[in-house]
This record gives sequence, C-alpha cells and structure tokens, in this order.
Amino acid sequence: MRAVGNWLIDLACARCAREHSAGRPQNTCTSCGGPLLCRYRIEPGALPLDRILQRPAGQNRLFELMPTVDGALTPTLGEGATPLLCAPRLADLLDLPNLRIKDESQNPTCSFKARGMATAMARARELGIGAVCLPSAGNAGGAAAAFGALLGIEVHVFVPESTPGPIRAEIAAHGAHVTTVAGSIADAAAALEVEAARHGWFSLATLREPYRVEGKKVMGFELLYDMGRLPDAIVYPTGGGTGLIGMWKAFDEMEALGLCGSARPRMFAVQAEACAPLPRAFDAGLDTMPAWEAPGSTAAYGLRVPSALGDGLMLKALRKSRGAAIAVGEKELLEGARLLATHAGLFASAEGGATVAAVQRLLAQGALHRRDAVVLFNTGHALKYLLPVRR
Ligand SMILES: *Cc1c(COP(=O)(O)O)cnc(C)c1O
Ligand SMILES: [Zn+2]
Repeated sequence: MRAVGNWLIDLACARCAREHSAGRPQNTCTSCGGPLLCRYRIEPGALPLDRILQRPAGQNRLFELMPTVDGALTPTLGEGATPLLCAPRLADLLDLPNLRIKDESQNPTCSFKARGMATAMARARELGIGAVCLPSAGNAGGAAAAFGALLGIEVHVFVPESTPGPIRAEIAAHGAHVTTVAGSIADAAAALEVEAARHGWFSLATLREPYRVEGKKVMGFELLYDMGRLPDAIVYPTGGGTGLIGMWKAFDEMEALGLCGSARPRMFAVQAEACAPLPRAFDAGLDTMPAWEAPGSTAAYGLRVPSALGDGLMLKALRKSRGAAIAVGEKELLEGARLLATHAGLFASAEGGATVAAVQRLLAQGALHRRDAVVLFNTGHALKYLLPVRR
C-alpha cells in the first residue's frame, strides 16, 4: 500500500534490481551488497511545476518524492533552497557569461552534507533507529551530529586524524561521540565496522543506506525550480558520489513527472590529483572503479575517497550525459578557491575551488563552450577548515 503523504513504493538494488521493503531499516542489498535506491509511483502530470513552486521552498517542498512519511512536516534545520548565484565578476574572468554557482555552503552545518543527513536521520527516526554511526572526513559527521541533536538519535562518528579541529569540535558540541582513528578514512571505516557490529549501531556510511542520496537529489530539483530548465553542464566536486547520483536520479524523476524532457546536463565530476580514482576509471573506459592505492594528502578532504560503492552509478551518469571526470592539482584547486573568494565573495572550501579549476580546464579543452549555462557547486565553507580548536 502507498504510504500516506509520499509516493514511495520500495527500495531497489542498483546492481541486481532486487526489491527490498522501505518499511524497515535497510543497508545494502541482501543479495549482492549493492546500493539500494528509493522507487516512487510517479504519475505523469500529477503535480505541475507551478503548484510545486507555490509551496514553501526547502528540502521537503516536493515531499511526494521524498522518503519520509512526515512529508512537509519532517523536522529540518532549514537545509535546502540554497541560492544559485550569478557571480558576474568571476563569470567575466572565466569568460563564461552563463555561469551560476549553487552555494551549498549556506546549508546548516555549512556544507551540503546537511541535505543527505536531514533526510537519512529523519527517516531513521521514523523507522525507530536509536543509534547511528558513520566514518567521516568531517562534514558528514558534523551534519549527522546536528541532526542527532535535533531528532534525539545517538550518533557515533569515526574520523581520521587529519580531520580539521573545528569539525571535530562541532561533532562533540552536538553531543555526538567522536573517535579519532590513525590513518585514512578507510581505516576509520574498518575500525567502525567492528564497533558497529558489537553495539548494533545503524550505519549511515555513504550509499550503505538508501536515504542520504534522497536528500542530496533535491539539489537537482532546485536547479529546475530556479532556472525553469536544466543547465547545459554541471561541474561537481565528487567524493563518494551521493550528489552526482542523487541529481541524476532527480532528473529521471522530474522527467517521469513531466516537469522536464529527456535532455540532461553534461555531468562533470571533479577530484583532486592526490586521489583520483574516478577520472582514472572514466578515462580507462571502465564500468567500475578500482580503489586508489595510497591516497595523497589534499586540502579537498571531501574528495579523498579511494573507493566508492556508487562507482557504477557515477560512471553511468557521466557517460550517459556525455560528461567526464577530471582531476585537478593542489595548486589549481587552491587557486580556484582563491578566485571564489576574490571574485565571487565566497569563502569557499577547497572542494568548491576544485570546480573553478575544472571549469578553466574544460573551457581550454573545448569540453565546455563559452555560451553554455554552467552550474558549479560550492559544497562547503572554508571557515570549517581554518584553525585547530583546543579543548
Ligand atoms: C563530502 C563532500 C564532497 C563530496 O560529496 P559526494 O556527493 O558524496 O561525492 C564534496 N565537498 C565537500 C565539502 C564534502 O564535504
Ligand atoms: Zn543487489
């Protein structure tokens, strides 16, 4: 039976298509370990764009296509409805007049991780989950901690040593439990797995539960709300890929609803050269992404993800959209962040800076054209990475 308020039917494995019930807690596919994605019953024309736009802006505006039963009444911290900025001086400098910047640093907890956690945590509460855990390089942990405080869910975050002090302080301030692990995020994930099994914590690790991606997909809805159509190209700093996969899913759902046609923006995923498994797999023509051995250090912490459960979904979206994955150097991405600060008024994270570097590269290569409507994503705020915080 259809849930009241939304159109959610069930969860389907992205790899083997096996169906799973959306009515109880689920992690990955019980047959193959693939990621589970929400399926909705969408009737073409059931909800015209003007009716959606009459509703209050925000994460749950199109609640029929969100997984929480609470719909428009789902508790939030005000995430979503971030501005799509024009940044005329940066557009001039790049000679890209139709440039827009989706400024995700204006989300609660100063990063777009709040979108995914808002939905995953609210759904966790609806499903009766009392304690969650995740490995995080920082922003995901901060967002989970904040929503844990809002919703009354116990949160355990395992972070690598390199996680910036302000983010560790943020996690602890919300009353969540922070465990620092020697090594990389992969080591934090391994340490967490042991503890999670022992204590029965529900894992919110990237794509290991179905609802964070639902929160992230709203970025795709908002592009259509704000532009009246989809852009020609999207340049997105990619780690685990929830944003990329989420937006791709949003476009399909909007098309099914009759809000847009079958044309898609060219999707460009950006990573740092220090850890660039996605560009390597894309350039090699692979359908899966071999893990990046020994990731180097980068200021773009959120992009330092050596392997990802959503690899096949990301590569499919990049190819189907006629986009690409590209790696930018440390100097370039920091210069990109500097340009966002000096020419767009955004004190942007290095991840946001990486998209500016990528745009310059793509224009030079002819993969982007001067007249294209291009949206780049600033996913986080530089203030969160600045200073070590002492107890
Ligand atoms: C997590 C993170 C990313 C990567 O996000 P995905 O959508 O999971 O690929 C990019 N930028 C920042 C600031 C992040 O925290
Ligand atoms: Zn499966």
